[in-house]
Amino acid sequence: MFGHVRRTKCLCLCEFVANEMNRLSRRICSPEYAKISRATAIALGFIRGRMYRDAVNRCVNILLYYPEGCSANCAYCGLAKRRPGQYHEKSFIHVDWPLYPFDQIIDGINHAPGYVKRSCISMITNGKAGDDTIKMARRLKKETEVPVSVLLSPTLIKEDDLVVLKDMGVDKVGIALDLANKQLFERYRGNGVGGPHRYERYWQTMETSLKVFGRYQVGVHLMVGMGETEYEMVRLMDELWNMGVANHLFSFYAEDGSVLADRPQPPWSSYLRIQLARYLIESGRSRHNDMGFDPEGRITHFGLEETVLMEIINSGTPFMTTGCLGPDGRVACNRPFGNCLPGPRQWNYPYLPNGEELGLVIEKIFLKG
Ligand code: SF4
Repeated sequence: MFGHVRRTKCLCLCEFVANEMNRLSRRICSPEYAKISRATAIALGFIRGRMYRDAVNRCVNILLYYPEGCSANCAYCGLAKRRPGQYHEKSFIHVDWPLYPFDQIIDGINHAPGYVKRSCISMITNGKAGDDTIKMARRLKKETEVPVSVLLSPTLIKEDDLVVLKDMGVDKVGIALDLANKQLFERYRGNGVGGPHRYERYWQTMETSLKVFGRYQVGVHLMVGMGETEYEMVRLMDELWNMGVANHLFSFYAEDGSVLADRPQPPWSSYLRIQLARYLIESGRSRHNDMGFDPEGRITHFGLEETVLMEIINSGTPFMTTGCLGPDGRVACNRPFGNCLPGPRQWNYPYLPNGEELGLVIEKIFLKG
């Protein structure tokens, strides 16, 4: 009898502590807190570290945080709901995202090194994300000097929200379409994984964003290595650029424990060709229709004379990360090592490739693969 009373008291205490912890953890969330990428935490001086070849992260990459996480289930994403583990422990594009009070992040931006040229808020799919993104963007615009971008969640965001963001001074938005065609999108983000995202909605948001923010103020994320051909990816980049959307390329890079954990990265040579095609399209030197493709959809020529092409390859620029620009006209969102391990062979160089790296690019770019 007494044992029963003690056990009941003990249970009540445990329940009380659990409830309290739950209550507190519910309060630690956006907009008062946010995650930042590890590279951003280094740039803001929150953690000590140095990156390969002294790469620096020129954009403050901010990720919304809620204990319950993202309700979507994108097959390749580290934050997917069905990926095992608690949301706060999950990596995203392969790196940890430590959590900080938003006040501290704002203070960090105001004391950041001069190479930090922009901040960007990445939404996740959570019912609170729309309103919180607006609150956080407003604070960044009022309390810091660097330009502000938002990586939108088209599943949540409405046209009115876009107008509010534009009116407060957000100058660029990004949309992670990720997949090169509707079939792949449905398979990896939509019905195929029980996810809420719809391909048409992403396109619609891209078109509305163009209307609100203007040409080349909208960027799209495209991921290479999801089963598309080079032909499809190049055709899509050409179409998007003509609409006024800037292409930001990513390479698939499996996250441990995700549905696609065993899938390999795309062949490096294929990724390099797509990077080069993007550069040629966006610099007005070639078009999808000027390029040649083999029956498997691989690029066989770029529509330029060899000497001209080699000059462009030798510049190294086509192989650098692309993302939102800073006020200096250079890429601010350079995401160091988000696609691959540090080393001479990279799927997006966060800096101009050096002689060794360029030598490898030239050796591999025309190989079948
Ligand atoms: S919506 Fe974004 S954060 Fe959520 S699972 Fe999909 S890619 Fe990841």
